[in-house]
Amino acid sequence: MERVQEAVFSCPKSMTYGPCGGVEFDGTCEVSEHRCVFVDRETVAWRGPMPVLLVDRPASDGSPGVVAVPSDPVSPGGAEFAQLIRSRQVVVADFPAKAVDRVSLAECADLLAGSADATLAGDSGAHRVQFSPSYRAQLIQSRGLRVIAGFNCRDRNRVAIEGELAGLADVGVAAVHCVTGDHTLTGSRPDAKPVFDLDSTGVASLAAEYGHLVSVGESPATPPVAHRAERLVEKQRAGAALAFVNHAGGAAPVARFIAEVRERQVEREHGEARLPGLAYIACVPVVVDRGSAELLRSFTTLVLPDGYLERILGARDVYAEGIAAAIDLSNELLTLDGVSGVNLSGGPEDGRESFFAEALARIASGVSLRIHGAG
Ligand code: SF4
Repeated sequence: MERVQEAVFSCPKSMTYGPCGGVEFDGTCEVSEHRCVFVDRETVAWRGPMPVLLVDRPASDGSPGVVAVPSDPVSPGGAEFAQLIRSRQVVVADFPAKAVDRVSLAECADLLAGSADATLAGDSGAHRVQFSPSYRAQLIQSRGLRVIAGFNCRDRNRVAIEGELAGLADVGVAAVHCVTGDHTLTGSRPDAKPVFDLDSTGVASLAAEYGHLVSVGESPATPPVAHRAERLVEKQRAGAALAFVNHAGGAAPVARFIAEVRERQVEREHGEARLPGLAYIACVPVVVDRGSAELLRSFTTLVLPDGYLERILGARDVYAEGIAAAIDLSNELLTLDGVSGVNLSGGPEDGRESFFAEALARIASGVSLRIHGAG
């Protein structure tokens, strides 16, 4: 990867509410050889409007709501998914289809529909030309599978982002997952100019304005570890209601992170309206062959549970062991207070998209047995 060299170093992603999730373990920028400009600073507080979605509504059965939802307006897809999360835990799966291939999209959607509650369909960092998020969401949802639309800021300015958010609201996606995104230098298109008109926190606010149920990610194990919980609270103040907890090394680190976020929320409430509980979706690494193991290793600042990869890759039947390991970890994460679901996370090597989607569906079905009380 070619790294940025600048006399006066600034954030290559022009972030206001940094740092991104790609800070190296030694504090180095993921794009440049310099130290990340945010890693030694206080957390940048959200300075925009506190959206009306910070309202803790009771669930329909009268119990306290756990998910903040926009009070008005709200997209029908977002309202339906928020209600589902209130009623039970959910299984989300990454979407492994080939980019710009509607046949592959349909195949993978068909394999996952009926097993996973929703798919997290974002832009693949390895494929820089993709269907637009709203068109991709339309294709997937037409097969009967809810979409949490992954949405990044690297290739779109504010106006293009607003157009996509309007399109996603019209499609009726379950949620919009707001990320800053990889820099173009770390993807496969260094010839493209990075845009980064907004960052994940800014686009979370904009997505809430468009009535979406807003999802964001946070990486508890990525520097600055001491500020990751605070940063998530600022994303919530901007409009987020769902929080994907990236691979942090197992159930215990996820539990500690949720507890820390709750402490930061209480600290932040002084002088403000009460912050409702976030719905946490814990990421579960999925490895079912050596190709998917390689892809997982390419994730930035990845932390896996001790012995997780060794258990799978050392097994006689890697596929069966990978499915069993993902179900075991999912079931462990689902026992944690505050965890509203799991996200089966990973991807296939080229040409194995359907194979990987089928594995995700088998894991989702296994996890669902527990959720529905039959496991
Ligand atoms: S690590 Fe991310 S947030 Fe930090 S300077 Fe680099 S691009 Fe910006």
